[in-house]
Amino acid sequence: MTHRFPGWMDRHHLRLVFVFTIMTMVTLLCVGWALHTIQQRLVQSSGHNLVQAATDAASKFDMMILARSGDIQLLSAAPIAQGQNPKALTQYLHELLHAYPAYRWIGVTDSWGRIIAATDSSNTSLDQSQRPWFQLARNLTGVRILDAQMSEESGATSALTVIAPLHSPDGQFLGAIKAVVSIPSLLTILDDTMHVLKDIEWTEESHLEYQLLNQKGDLLADSALQQHGHLNLKQLGVSSATLVASNARGFVEETHLRRGTSVVTAYAQLAIPHSDPILRWGILIRVDRNSILAPIQSSLWKLSWLSLLLLLPLAGLVLWMIKARHEEWSTANRESFRASNAEAALTKRTEALHALVVATQTLSAQQDLDELLEHLLNIARGITSARYAALAVSHNNQQTPGQFFSTGADDAAADAIRILPLETGARKSLGQEHGTLSLNHLAKYWASLGLPANHRPMTSYLGVTIRCHDQFFGRLSLANKLTPNGLATDFSELDEQIVLTLATQAGTAIQNLQLLHDSNEQAKHDSLTELLNHSAILSALTQELSRAERNRQPVGVLIADLDHFKRVNDTYGHQVGDAVLREAAQRLRETARNYDHVGRAGGEEFLIVVPNCDLDALAECAERYRTAISDMPFETPSGPLTITVSIGATVCSPEYPLSSELLRKMADYALYRVKSHGRNGIDIVPHPHALVVEQMKKTA
Ligand code: GH3
Ligand code: MG
Ligand code: MG
Repeated sequence: MTHRFPGWMDRHHLRLVFVFTIMTMVTLLCVGWALHTIQQRLVQSSGHNLVQAATDAASKFDMMILARSGDIQLLSAAPIAQGQNPKALTQYLHELLHAYPAYRWIGVTDSWGRIIAATDSSNTSLDQSQRPWFQLARNLTGVRILDAQMSEESGATSALTVIAPLHSPDGQFLGAIKAVVSIPSLLTILDDTMHVLKDIEWTEESHLEYQLLNQKGDLLADSALQQHGHLNLKQLGVSSATLVASNARGFVEETHLRRGTSVVTAYAQLAIPHSDPILRWGILIRVDRNSILAPIQSSLWKLSWLSLLLLLPLAGLVLWMIKARHEEWSTANRESFRASNAEAALTKRTEALHALVVATQTLSAQQDLDELLEHLLNIARGITSARYAALAVSHNNQQTPGQFFSTGADDAAADAIRILPLETGARKSLGQEHGTLSLNHLAKYWASLGLPANHRPMTSYLGVTIRCHDQFFGRLSLANKLTPNGLATDFSELDEQIVLTLATQAGTAIQNLQLLHDSNEQAKHDSLTELLNHSAILSALTQELSRAERNRQPVGVLIADLDHFKRVNDTYGHQVGDAVLREAAQRLRETARNYDHVGRAGGEEFLIVVPNCDLDALAECAERYRTAISDMPFETPSGPLTITVSIGATVCSPEYPLSSELLRKMADYALYRVKSHGRNGIDIVPHPHALVVEQMKKTA
């Protein structure tokens, strides 16, 4: 693994990612919380300021209304009013109107309710006796403030009506005074408040506005509306309007009725004195939340950018680390996948090699070549999971196969294998060279290999040369590798190695078997004449006797002894004697039939076992052997020599089975008789009793 981080980072990789993520989240939370708190604080402080402003305005309203009621109170007690002089009164009223623009209209009646003086001369002489205000004034002792709506003089813009009775000093009712105070003049107070607010805390652009409403929630004035109908804010669900009636003052965050923006509305109550029932009006001053936050808006943006700038590299680092971790994990995954694959392959390989070891051990334990080759085929097919295996054994290092062994049930492959190495370039590779030949995807390349179409169902081929004594011994062919998923298109590299090892081991095993065979053969043969030696010919005799007994067949036994051989040695030397022995052996071998056994019993004496030879045939047989030696001179280094032989014979008939010792004795006795009668002849002792009689004669 390559290290792209400092050591400590590398060690605490995961922990670091975790810590950075937590830090990021905490930072974001802190920034968010701080921003929220700052905004709330700003809103709170602005709200309080607005409440203060609304309260101030309310108290100014109070003062102003109080002053106006004071005016009227003074007037009611003034002699000029009690004097009932219309001209003087009218003069006075005009002066009052002039001095206080808040008045819209002022009028004075006599005790019958007829207007005797008014700021508007057209109203003079109007009868007010039936008007509610006059009726009310009659019963009053002092000034009283009424809602202007009760007065027709008030008009649309009127606000309040101040009424007061006129009494003579002795308490007699003289008339009544009525003054209408107009809204627009009252609003100058609120306009002033707005100006002050905008000067101190807000700007001209701030959405700062006020509303004046009466107790029922009717909108009396709205700085934002030039003209307004009869709007009732309580009925419209404006929360600040609802609060006006219940609380003295405060502020609330709400949604602007028309703009739909978030606003902060401060409210204050206006309790109008000298009114009965007491009139309570409300002043609402509202401003957009955005206008409150405007001063810190740019700071907020800067803060957001700053935190973003701080977080970006942090996020980058975290992402980078996650990516690095991910790569590490995927690398680890890949490695472990590779490792488990390698382990599986290793296990497979170990199992295969174990099987191979066991197989080669059993291979080298084979005593018979055919069995060995059959075993080899089974092992090769078993280990490589081939459906078919074949072994073509050559004769004398030739390419053309002699014997053909095969195993596995796959006719198509069998047919194909018989022709494949002969028909393709494979032939060369599978010649006398070492190594394997693997033909993959055979079905695909079938045509291009020039193979006949009717052998098509062969998918994979693996061939190996078996060499023995460094010579081409044969060719092992495997076809159609079988896997759990069906026929494979090729044999694996492991298969090739296994087959190669198997071929080498088989070569050695075959070689060992041949060596064993050779040494066995050698042990059985006489070194000078290459005939069976004494013990070998005796065991051959024993074997033939028991076989003959089983098959109820006769066996002829002959002993041939060269005549006067001592003389040959003495005259021409030992070497010539050996040459004569070799030549004699050769002649006997040539005379023997395929199933006759010829052995050297010792010195110049030969034992011949002739299976299936009865007494009638025996003489002729013995005579053939004799003439083979005696009739032709022997070519020796010392010139041609005439050598003769004496042969004694007997037979073991199925009617009288005899032991090999007795048969030898009988043949020996027959030989003795030939020697006694001048040599170069044959004699037969047909029965044991004959031997006994002759011996009795001899001893007698
Ligand atoms: P007979 O006709 O009675 O059989 O006379 P013979 O001389 O053949 O018999 P004898 O038993 O007297 O002599 C056998 C001789 O064969 C003795 C020995 O020197 C000789 N001999 C035995 N084995 C060998 C051998 O391996 N090589 C040679 N050159 N001579 C051998
Ligand atoms: Mg002899
Ligand atoms: Mg002899």
